[in-house]
Amino acid sequence: MSGQLEEKIVVLQDQVKKLQSQKDSLLKELDAVEEKYENQDRLYRKYFPIIIDMVAKGETPFAKACKELSNALKKKATSTKIAYIFEQLKTAMIKEDIGPVSLKKKKGMFSSFLKTSADTFLEDFKQSYHEVVNSLKSTLDKKYAPKLDSMTARILKVQDTADINDIRETVFSLIFLYISETSQDREKVNAFIQEIVAKILDIETKLATSYEQTRSMFTSNQGFEKVLSSEMGGLKESSDVAASLDDLKVQITQRLTSIEKALHKKKTVDQAINKLAEKNRTSFKSGFAKLKQELQEATKYSEQLEKKLNQDQLTGAFNRRAYDKKMVDEMDRFLRYGTIFSLLLIDADKFKRINDRYGHAIGDRCLQEIIKRTQPLLRKNDMLARYGGEEFVVIMPETDAPGGEQAAEKIRKTIEKIEFLYKNEKVRVTVSIGVSCVQEGDQNSEQVFERADMAVYKAKENGRNQVMVQ
Ligand code: GH3
Ligand code: MG
Ligand code: MG
Repeated sequence: MSGQLEEKIVVLQDQVKKLQSQKDSLLKELDAVEEKYENQDRLYRKYFPIIIDMVAKGETPFAKACKELSNALKKKATSTKIAYIFEQLKTAMIKEDIGPVSLKKKKGMFSSFLKTSADTFLEDFKQSYHEVVNSLKSTLDKKYAPKLDSMTARILKVQDTADINDIRETVFSLIFLYISETSQDREKVNAFIQEIVAKILDIETKLATSYEQTRSMFTSNQGFEKVLSSEMGGLKESSDVAASLDDLKVQITQRLTSIEKALHKKKTVDQAINKLAEKNRTSFKSGFAKLKQELQEATKYSEQLEKKLNQDQLTGAFNRRAYDKKMVDEMDRFLRYGTIFSLLLIDADKFKRINDRYGHAIGDRCLQEIIKRTQPLLRKNDMLARYGGEEFVVIMPETDAPGGEQAAEKIRKTIEKIEFLYKNEKVRVTVSIGVSCVQEGDQNSEQVFERADMAVYKAKENGRNQVMVQ
């Protein structure tokens, strides 16, 4: 009997020992699990809100639950509360059909959002440049139409930055061509160029800022999104099958570890993209600077052409074209506001003789000298121009006949004193000047000119080297 009992005790002691060692190893395992769980919990509270914030866009129940979960995690809410929110999240996901399958269908939440903004940007670009081309078409000569039409066709086909650079260059070469070829009023041409340029700069600014941002965000998030969506899908499945909250936590921590890896990878990719974006930004900046420089050159070129167009090549004074324009302006002002002006017609005396005696080159030098000496005697608003041959004109705004006469006399006296040597012979030149002032009843500038011409004729008849007013 006692032997039986002893045996039983030994068996029981064995069992207790076994149970104790089982208990010890279970406790050890539990410690390890707890420690792992704490680590994972920290990770989970650290990264999950970030990820959720990224996903939680809009006002859908899913987005709301996401935000709630993010807040709860940030505030270190209890597991029960988190489990409750998870339930809501799960329901919303199922209701809104968010998961791996639907993500694949929609090509992802991020890609759909970003694709739209990239498309919008390109559309914006196309539309803006289209407008520029249209305004060029309505302003420029018909002969540019085929070029502009082919440009429109190219704009509609634009797909990336390389195409954009091409379009920009073509627009500029056309503008340059137009500047060189046109015979239109330079002031109008300049104003037109400024307007086009302002439009292009506006488009380019938009381009430089929005394009790279959209592009890099799009690329960077593509890879990350894949992981995130599959993890979100995994979470959905886990929450379906998880038997208990603890189970769910284990599942989630596994998922989070892989999300963390994705985050890490994303960071590396982001850095590379940043570097590339920086390179692009730099190339954009230099492209932009080049563009500005080209514009300045275009304006300068146009201004030079404008000056050339209005300048007499021999003397550097204004030419007949500039004179005609100014006369029309002054006459307009007189007819509208009654603002007077005077006209001086200066004709070199016996100039044919100068040419005959000293040669054409000396004649030319005389003409240059006349301009050089006369110019400093005039006011800023007066215009000295070569009317043709050995005849010059001065338009003097807001000057009456006596004022004109005075100025003419000063000019005559100054020119009279000009002398330079030709083969030891003194070359002298004199001028006869006719003065006229606009007067009541004048309807056009020719009437003013005719009186000045008449006055010159009288001065010549009277013996030359003198001023006459008519
Ligand atoms: P008048 O006193 O009556 O004005 O005599 P004129 O000889 O000046 O008049 P006319 O109109 O008969 O001759 C003008 C001359 O001016 C003829 C032409 O040789 C000369 N001339 C016109 N343009 C130029 C030019 O660009 N250079 C030179 N050297 N001479 C010119
Ligand atoms: Mg003459
Ligand atoms: Mg003459």
